[in-house]
Amino acid sequence: MNNNLINNIMPEEIETWYFIENSIKRIMNLYNFKEFRPSILQLNSLYKKYFDFSQELDDKNIQNKILHIKDLDEYGLRPEGTLAVLNSELAQNAITKSQKIFYTGPMFVKNNDNYLQYHQIGAEILGSDNVISDIEIVQLAKTIFKELGINDLFLEINSFGCEKCRPKYLNALKQFIHLNRNEVCDHCKKHLDQEPLVILNCLNQSCKQISNMAPINLDYLCNDCLENFTKIKKLLSNIGTNFTVNPNLSLNFNYYSRLVFNLTTNINSQNQTNNSIKQNQKIIATGGRYNQLAKYTTQLPLAAVGFSFNIESVIEIIKQKNPKSKKPRLFSVCVCSVADSMELLILQVTQELHSYDIHTIIIENKIDIDQVNQLSKLHECNIILVFREDLIRDAKLMVLTYNHNQEKTNQDIILLSDLMDDILRKKKSISY
Ligand SMILES: [Zn+2]
Ligand SMILES: [Zn+2]
Repeated sequence: MNNNLINNIMPEEIETWYFIENSIKRIMNLYNFKEFRPSILQLNSLYKKYFDFSQELDDKNIQNKILHIKDLDEYGLRPEGTLAVLNSELAQNAITKSQKIFYTGPMFVKNNDNYLQYHQIGAEILGSDNVISDIEIVQLAKTIFKELGINDLFLEINSFGCEKCRPKYLNALKQFIHLNRNEVCDHCKKHLDQEPLVILNCLNQSCKQISNMAPINLDYLCNDCLENFTKIKKLLSNIGTNFTVNPNLSLNFNYYSRLVFNLTTNINSQNQTNNSIKQNQKIIATGGRYNQLAKYTTQLPLAAVGFSFNIESVIEIIKQKNPKSKKPRLFSVCVCSVADSMELLILQVTQELHSYDIHTIIIENKIDIDQVNQLSKLHECNIILVFREDLIRDAKLMVLTYNHNQEKTNQDIILLSDLMDDILRKKKSISY
């Protein structure tokens, strides 16, 4: 068993998470998307309902994904966000007024013997079947990645058709695969009867060849779906969004109808045998319209479109693309003492610094005077305040100032009563 369920985010990584989360909140707000925080525990019956639906669609993907909780039979850990959104009051509210929402948080999946906790960000528009919403979701996803510094984005689109035309395509596909079943890999052969679409995502060369020759959904679209897809392509072109139509684009889930899309970017990967660096296209977000799923799970005449991505994967990409990106540094003051019994003074000065919004580092234990200089490198601070017994008797303290390279540029003895003025003046003189 491969267990990746414990997924701690360490303090040294948190700046990257804040950067992503804050960028997302800013862009979501710009597009008028409100945050929804779905419960981490969800009813298993919700996924059972979805499972029944996906069985009708030949999609067994979710079947083994739910992590059940032993003491709470009816509950499981959420594997993704869309179903939780559909199962909330948002669905009912969307009947009278379209709802634009986003969510972010940990998700839990079980895939055969692999257990995983990952973080997902998703956005959904419920209650609008207008192509404006399809385009808006695509633009939103693109804007977020641009905000995160991922500029080489490629948009691939396809249409999955609707409940009228998709079954015709699926039947043709199944027939085709059945005729070629001797050519597919052992894994696909084993799953073919249960899951005929398994072959479309298989990386085996001969399966890939067969997939490439297989019937495509675009040739089976009904007139309404064809018109919808043409309109989307035209709108994307006219607003200057580059895209390619990928008829083989098949997402992990079959619950989509009409527009489906992938956003990809180039990443470097190292060839294990000769250590050469190769550029690969990697999918960073997927999305599309899922009216059928929305209607089935809510029993409401609900249209829906959305996208999601995995934060851990995006962090990997950001690290690769901007390895040197350095966070802006805070102006920071370190407070220490080389004498005993300075607790009250340290706490008072710190409290006052905080009231001026100044980032403060407290050195709790008394240190030697020759250790003071090391603090600047260790904590990357701009100023070190040192309480010394001889100085404090005259209500004074020592103030050391450092530059960006943590070199000492100044050393003063000043009155405690002048301290805040002195620090604020120095803060002003340091530009970032
Ligand atoms: Zn159709
Ligand atoms: Zn295969």
